[in-house]
This record gives sequence, structure tokens and C-alpha cells, in this order.
Amino acid sequence: MAEVVIAGGGFAGLAGALFLARRGHTVTLVERDEAPPNATPGVGVGVGAGAGAGVGAGADVDAEQWKHPGAPQARQSHALLGRAHRVLLDEAPDVIEALLSRGVHQIPISVGAAVLEGEHMLLSRRLVAEAELRRIVTREPGVHVRAGDAVVGLCVSGIGEVPVVTGAQLLSGDLLTADLVVDAGGRRSGLPSWFAAAGLRAPLEDHQECGFFYLTRYYRLKPGCEAPPSRIPASVPLDYATVFALGADNDTFSLTMTLSVNDPHRKTFRRPDRFEAFLGAVPHSAPWIQAGVPISDISMMSRIENRRRRLVDSGGPVVGGIVAIGDAALHTNPTLGRGISMALWHAQHLAEVAHAAPHDPVGFVDQFSRWTDDHLGVWYDTQVAADATALDRLEAGLVGIRLPTPENPMARFAAAAFACAPHDEVVGRAVARVAHLFATPAAAFSDPVVAGRINAFLATGPSLARPADFPSRAEFESIAVA
Ligand SMILES: Cc1cc2nc3c(=O)[nH]c(=O)nc-3n(C[C@H](O)[C@H](O)[C@H](O)COP(=O)(O)OP(=O)(O)OC[C@H]3O[C@@H](n4cnc5c(N)ncnc54)[C@H](O)[C@@H]3O)c2cc1C
Repeated sequence: MAEVVIAGGGFAGLAGALFLARRGHTVTLVERDEAPPNATPGVGVGVGAGAGAGVGAGADVDAEQWKHPGAPQARQSHALLGRAHRVLLDEAPDVIEALLSRGVHQIPISVGAAVLEGEHMLLSRRLVAEAELRRIVTREPGVHVRAGDAVVGLCVSGIGEVPVVTGAQLLSGDLLTADLVVDAGGRRSGLPSWFAAAGLRAPLEDHQECGFFYLTRYYRLKPGCEAPPSRIPASVPLDYATVFALGADNDTFSLTMTLSVNDPHRKTFRRPDRFEAFLGAVPHSAPWIQAGVPISDISMMSRIENRRRRLVDSGGPVVGGIVAIGDAALHTNPTLGRGISMALWHAQHLAEVAHAAPHDPVGFVDQFSRWTDDHLGVWYDTQVAADATALDRLEAGLVGIRLPTPENPMARFAAAAFACAPHDEVVGRAVARVAHLFATPAAAFSDPVVAGRINAFLATGPSLARPADFPSRAEFESIAVA
């Protein structure tokens, strides 16, 4: 069994700690931010979603009062896709039970008439789900949570050919020894500076700026109103913006818009009246605006990027005894809502293999890196490829120009898959499996039956062009200056 120190208690660190401890490992979880204010779990909790004021009131305290600056995206829209739900169901079904008791909604996964039997996604304000997970992890035997402290450096042994991390230095001045240190510090992880301070070779990094920022506001359903269905993807792309609508726990939901960082009107839409005027004009979000009353300010999140960090370069592992999971290892533009699924899947793999870390700390880093590339790298790579064209669309859209739909066979095939998915159960199931990270696009669409149906649809000569934007860029500009 291994002694593990985890730096960061967001979704990846919390899940990693829980899954490791339940396999008999000993975990110290160091989290910079304090615990949620609702220290007592289950206070006033009823059964099922929206079961009474007690459920919603407790959840509201988490969502509104928990200070969690270490996760700057915490007040943005979050859905837990099918893969995240599956990992929790397999590793810790009690977490799902607790989330449902807290008013989180569990939704079957479907596209058109196609249903993924036995698979669900979870709709929740992120802080509600994360606070509940944190309470469970804090109570877990085998996990010691050090809240309000931070990992600021590494203890490294240089005895072997490759240096090996043997522990972590904390902000409080304490040193923790470990068989394995896990960086779960999220997208702003300090790992590169820890490596530099320890005289280690820098990790390999690649990154791509996404060129847009998020604005999100939460709402509660008006009495007697029903939420429109939440779809994945939850977004509709316009040429110059993207609009999201997503249900959450306890009759709440979020509306989000993204705009280019170069948009001359970018500051205007931080005003609630302009934000609502625009979202009320977009057909995707208009019914939501009508159904809800605002319950939050508008939260902004910038510095959106795709970034991957590897601890193995052409010379082999840079170091032994440390791995990164979740956003600290790789994170993508969150438009497709994959981050928590990838983080929980990563945490699950960590728990499955951690027993090997004490015996071969350098080989462990090598193996872990390979698994990450094989299972998660593909999602990173497809996002980077998609974002290269998305950035061009956005920049052209800013000046009212619509770029033509790409005509290459791959792009036409992908567009055809999405166009026929709502009407064709076989294709719908393949699209759902990709959208919820159960199959890679290559695996799902190379299936001969799926490919045959998509090609037959293409042979009918369908128009795959996106419909005209509504509102147009000119109409958007008049909303901005009204
Ligand atoms: C705008 C936006 C929308 C998103 N929407 C979705 C969505 O719908 N669905 C989805 O699945 N994902 C979504 N994501 C992605 C998701 O937020 C992340 O992928 C997920 O939170 C990753 O979990 P993590 O634990 O790796 O990082 P985080 O959740 O960011 O947690 C990192 C934690 O580490 C702590 N920390 C950092 N450094 C240290 C240190 N040195 N010592 C101690 N503690 C430290 C921080 O305080 C924080 O608690 C979205 C992201 C953004 C930006």
C-alpha cells in the first residue's frame, strides 16, 4: 500500500483521495481553499430532486457562500457527463446517492430516440456537487484533509539515475513524505515552478489559446414553469458567440455566453440587462430566460485554453514519484463539458495502479504517462484540432463574415453524423457514446454499421450548412448599444 500526498482537492484530487483510500492506501489531501460552510452533511435533506426547502436551502448555501477561489471556474456552468457518472457509480455509488439527496438531477443519456441503457449524467451547480463530494472525502477513513494549506515545493532525492520525488513542502512549513505525490492542482497548477525550484528538467508543455471568455448567470425556475430539456452539447455556436443553457440542481439552471476576447462589445454584456436582452433574443436560450428569475451575479472567466503537460520527454521520465491528474495534466476548452469526466477517469486509473508506485517510482511515471496519452490524449488532440477552425470562425464572425462550411470528407462526415443522429437510433447511440466519453470518435464512427448509415445519409446530398445566425451580428450590435 502507498502513502500518497495529493496537492489540490478539486474534483480530481477529491476523487483520487476517495478511490485510493477505498483500496487501502493512505492519503493526505492538501487543499488551499477552506471547506464549504455547510460542514454538517445532510442537514434538512429530503429524498430526491427538489424534495423540499431543506434540500434546496442547503445546496444554496454551498453555491452562494462557499469561497473557492482556487477553482476560478467554480461559478461557471458544469454538467457531469456520462463518463463521470459511470466512474462514480463504479467506485463510490454512495456519492451519487448523496448528490441526489442534495437535489442534483440524474438524467438518462439520449440523443433523439437512442438511449444509452444504464447510463446517466448529473446536472448540478458545480459548487453543490463539489461540496458534497468534499464532505464525503473528509469523513473517509484513510484520508486526512489539510485545508487552508498548499503544496509549494517538492522534496527530491537525487540518488538514482533519474531523480525521485519523496515528499512535498507545504506553505505552513511542514514537510510531508510520500511514496507518491499527485499534482491535482487544476489549470493553474504550480508544478512547473516546483520543478524549476528543485532543479528538475521542465515538463513538456503544449498549449493553445482559445480566444474567448465566459459569462454565466444562474436562475431559479419560476413557480409553475418547467425547464426546457438540457441537451449535450449544451451550446449553440453562432459565428461571433456561443450560447449555453443547462439545468442544475434544485430547480436552478445556468445561462452562459462566450465572446471573443477581441470583441469590441465584450464589456457591455457584463451588464445584466444586456446579457438578458441578448440571451432572450437567441432561440436556444429564450425559453429559459422566460422560465427563470436570476439568483446570481454574472460571473466571468477568461484565460480559456487547451494545455497539456507531460512528465516524460524524449529522454524518458523527467522524474519519478510524482504524477499529475485532471486539469493539471491536461485541460481543454470546456465547451463540450468533458473536464470532470476526464478528471474522475484519471483518478480512477490512479487508484487502480497506485500499488506499483512505491516499488518502481520512475517506471510508474512512464506507465502513467502512456495511459494518459492513450486514454485522455485523444480528447485533447480532437479539441485542439476543432479549436483551430473555431478561432477563425469567431474572428470572421466579429466583422459579420461567415466562413464557408468546410467541404473536406472528414468534416462532411462529422457534420452528417450530427445531422442524422436525432433521426437514426444507431447513429444517435454512436454520437451519445462520443459526447459522453464512452467511445472515441474514431472507434464509434468506424463501426461499419454506423459508418454505412452516415454514408447513406450523405449520398442523399443533404445540405450541411449551419442555418443563418439569429440574432445576426448586426442585431447583436444593436442590442449592445441599446
Ligand atoms: C468555464 C468552464 C466551464 C466548465 N464546464 C464544465 C462542464 O460542464 N463539465 C465538466 O466536466 N467540466 C467542465 N469544466 C472543466 C472542469 O471545471 C475541470 O475540468 C475540473 O474542475 C478539473 O478538476 P481538477 O480537480 O483537475 O481541477 P480543479 O477543479 O480546478 O481543482 C483544483 C484544486 O486544486 C487546488 N490547488 C491548486 N494548487 C494547489 C496547491 N499548490 N496546493 C493545494 N491546493 C491547490 C485549488 O484550490 C482547487 O481546489 C469547465 C471549465 C471551465 C473553465
